Amino acid sequence: MTTEHVYAIPLRTRFRGITVREGVLLRGPAGWGEFCPFLDYSDAECVPWLAAAVEASEQGWPEPVRDRVEVNATVPVVSPERAHELVAASGCRTAKVKVADSRSSLVDDCERVAAVRDALGPAGAIRVDANAAWDVETAATAIGELARAAGGLEYVEQPCATIDELAMVRRKVDVRIAADESIRRAEDPLRVAVAGAADVAVLKVAPLGGVGRALRVAEACGLPCVVSSAVESSVGLAAELALAGALPSLEFACGLGTLSLLTGDVTTASLSAVDGHLPVPRRAPEPDLVGGVAADDETRRRWLGRLARVRELSG
Ligand SMILES: [Mg+2]
Repeated sequence: MTTEHVYAIPLRTRFRGITVREGVLLRGPAGWGEFCPFLDYSDAECVPWLAAAVEASEQGWPEPVRDRVEVNATVPVVSPERAHELVAASGCRTAKVKVADSRSSLVDDCERVAAVRDALGPAGAIRVDANAAWDVETAATAIGELARAAGGLEYVEQPCATIDELAMVRRKVDVRIAADESIRRAEDPLRVAVAGAADVAVLKVAPLGGVGRALRVAEACGLPCVVSSAVESSVGLAAELALAGALPSLEFACGLGTLSLLTGDVTTASLSAVDGHLPVPRRAPEPDLVGGVAADDETRRRWLGRLARVRELSG
């Protein structure tokens, strides 16, 4: 029998246009899974998110090949001072900085990455994420300026929307390009690699439909992979860590230190980074705090309705 808990956890800083993270935790014979597609996703787009939650709760994950994973600090659109504080407090050697947001100019972005470099020191690594906001020319200019301000960039995540644009930008700049939004369906990663559109693939368990499926995507695309979260609670993060733990090679820090973006969690066994690392769990932690972050009745009805529709679609 499945038990379902609907949670609502406020974010510390507005992210992806949202201020509260919501989702459903599902219990099955293998443990707990999390279903938390963003609210603007259609029911059809939610099908792989449910598959990932069902995998976690009913099947479990493959054996890991490492027991801990290095993670990056995440810097949202905040002031340079706040960015410096966040990175210095994180204990991470790598930081990912959000850029190209509508509330932030290129000058602001350059000031933010410069503050992050100051906090990390010369040995740290800085990557930026444009979330597909630029066209090719804007990307080429912005990447040059950001790389100068940052004193070098590890990579630029999704500078433009399409695979063809990524390939064009990649030919114009000498910074690595990472594909994130372009890798959402199992058939896309091959196209990204074949088109010469990226040097790095960003993988997320939830939109790819589970750890097993994400591992097959990693193998098919043949690129170095970075595992990144969908800003889940510790239950969903456990699945993302299971993927990072099972990838045959892992050369970059992963975007899994995201629990710090939330004001709370569903468990006392939180997957919070210590010294820039997270452990690879064998199953999701028990959500023993879920009562404290329970959604109100209206939110609960909305999520259980969504879950029922996506289950129907999943057959
Ligand atoms: Mg991204």
